[in-house]
Amino acid sequence: MRYHKITSPDIENGLGCRVTLWVAGCTHHCEGCHNPETWDFNGGKPFDEAAKEELFSRLSLDYIKGITFSGGDPVDSYDDVLALMKEIKEKFPDKDIWLYTGYDFNALIRSDRVEMLSYVDYLVDGEYKESQRDIAIAFRGSRNQHIYKFYADHNEMMDVSEMIDK
Ligand code: SF4
Repeated sequence: MRYHKITSPDIENGLGCRVTLWVAGCTHHCEGCHNPETWDFNGGKPFDEAAKEELFSRLSLDYIKGITFSGGDPVDSYDDVLALMKEIKEKFPDKDIWLYTGYDFNALIRSDRVEMLSYVDYLVDGEYKESQRDIAIAFRGSRNQHIYKFYADHNEMMDVSEMIDK
């Protein structure tokens, strides 16, 4: 897996002060995407042990609520992101995980990539649609995108988009 940057503290990509990992590579190529430089899977730099150490060190700070995976589309780097999420949940059980993806939630739960969702606390789903752009909604760019919250045992989830917008 390659990545572009690690940003923290970040308050624009999820609730609370967060660390955001910007994963390289995206297959969606949405018209009007704000980060087209992140589409290339060979872009950025390797996510090596030093990068992981930096990520974990930032994540360990008390005021950091959790980690956000963005990009790019982290789901397109599925195996590496899944392994990293598992490690984070083991090492930092009190930190939450937000995942941004261009895939729709309903497609994801029916795909062979569904396991990733069991490590995710909040999912922001869907491609960016220029025709539905809305700068008034929280943590997403267009109205077709939703924020889903997963509850402790992951047997329940809720669309909390409107709740968070208020
Ligand atoms: S999914 Fe996100 S990163 Fe990928 S093209 Fe769409 S808006 Fe850009």
